[in-house]
Amino acid sequence: MQTKLLIGGEFVDALDGATLDVINPYDGSVLAKVAEAKAADVDRAVVAAEKAFPAWKALAAAQRGRLLGKLADAIESHADELAELESRDTGHPIRDTKLLDAPRTAATFRYFAGMADKYQGSVVPVDAGFLNYVLREPVGVVGQIVPWNFPLMFTSWKMGPALAAGNTVVLKPAEITPLTTLRVAELMTEVGFPPGVVNIVPGYGHTAGQRLAEHPGVKKIAFTGSTATGRKIVQASAGNLKRVQLELGGKGANIVFSDAFLPAAINGSAFAIFHNQGQACIAGSRLLLQQDIADQFLEGFLKLAGSIRLGDPLDPRTEMGPLTSQRQQQSVLTYCDVARQQGAQLLLGGRKPAAADLAGGYFVEPTVVKAQPQDRVCQEEVFGPFVAVTTFRDEAEAVAIANSTEYGLGGGLWTSNLQRAHRIAGSMRSGMVWINCYKRVNPGSPFGGVGSSGYGREMGFEAMHDYTDAKSVWVNVDAQIPPHYPR
Ligand code: NAD
Repeated sequence: MQTKLLIGGEFVDALDGATLDVINPYDGSVLAKVAEAKAADVDRAVVAAEKAFPAWKALAAAQRGRLLGKLADAIESHADELAELESRDTGHPIRDTKLLDAPRTAATFRYFAGMADKYQGSVVPVDAGFLNYVLREPVGVVGQIVPWNFPLMFTSWKMGPALAAGNTVVLKPAEITPLTTLRVAELMTEVGFPPGVVNIVPGYGHTAGQRLAEHPGVKKIAFTGSTATGRKIVQASAGNLKRVQLELGGKGANIVFSDAFLPAAINGSAFAIFHNQGQACIAGSRLLLQQDIADQFLEGFLKLAGSIRLGDPLDPRTEMGPLTSQRQQQSVLTYCDVARQQGAQLLLGGRKPAAADLAGGYFVEPTVVKAQPQDRVCQEEVFGPFVAVTTFRDEAEAVAIANSTEYGLGGGLWTSNLQRAHRIAGSMRSGMVWINCYKRVNPGSPFGGVGSSGYGREMGFEAMHDYTDAKSVWVNVDAQIPPHYPR
């Protein structure tokens, strides 16, 4: 397992020799000691990326695509190994990392491999006698900072479009989950990415992350993480006015109307919140039920949630693993107390599981509370297997509750009424809406939010726009220009 920083094509120790412990959330053991980048290491990485930029930008787009395609192949052929490493590092059940995380990582790199030589500029119809064309140019060295909830997938979401567009990259994984990122970095060097095109600097946010966000050599910072850190990133970026892209928190509203097909709505709503232990920015963490089906829905939902198999992430039967860190476990348990204190009705869970074989891991039982829309647990992101249920009378009330938080990332609705489905989708203040499904993502479909969920979009052509600058070029083809200063 690679444990060093990748800088300029070499795996190296941190300048001061510091390391950080990577913990297995299932048993609290130390999985690895990884080199810890500080500001001086980030500076080295930025220099390496600056040096690599001109040649990478000049490389034929098809060649960049070829390398990304080779990387997708390498990820596919190491999929089981990457899935296992991700499960050990994050606590995601192996069935998810094998079925979703590893294949989606390869698919996203493959999508941007194909995108590299399809993304093009344009010609603008301007005044007679002139040609105006628009080039899409890479912005330069891009800093990327990612969180710990889907570290393997985020390598492809962040690096895929940035590299396809011709930027060079310095990526900082979250301090607690750097392992699959380093393994992907190793595969990148093996398939032939030139030295310095990609640099990986695991380290803490207030040191390595802060330096990357403020570094004058970094021309764009792409950040996924909490809204509070997003604000710090914006401040740190001001020095050189670098471009900023923010994928922040969410408080997804999942609305179930009384005309919904309930078995599908129940199953989909459980996936919406409990997949990945609820540690997803797009989790359906607020469940809005129309009054007349609320009891019937909850009966099925609580039965399903209560039967989710918690266990060893490496056991293929496990449906929910531990939370990724003890800190996150504590934070979710604190929200369970907040719910109780604010008078919410606890319908399920709200504690660590009692089973002896789970005692060493950072587990929290699937938790369902009935709360009021203004309660903290309906307004703040819990980021765990915790769903807050409220009821509504009609469409207008459903939309008002759905739009009542500062966030606007993803939301969903379940109904068999086609007109209502589109009407509500149009009324929800969010970057993504799922109708009769939840949490669908695809490398071609824009991903991102509004309000306190951030700005900019990942995936698809939108991501390519975000990783390039438009350059407008004017050519006098045959125009006779009247002189401005007749002499
Ligand atoms: P976090 O903001 O604490 O950390 C995210 C990353 O930022 C980490 O790499 C961390 O080291 C770094 N960081 C922390 N402080 C920093 C600073 N001052 N300067 C620069 N970097 C700093 O978030 P987290 O707790 O690791 O992740 C969970 C959050 O991420 C949740 O809010 C979740 O909703 C959000 N998230 C959003 C999306 C999305 O696409 N919108 C996706 C996944 C997660």
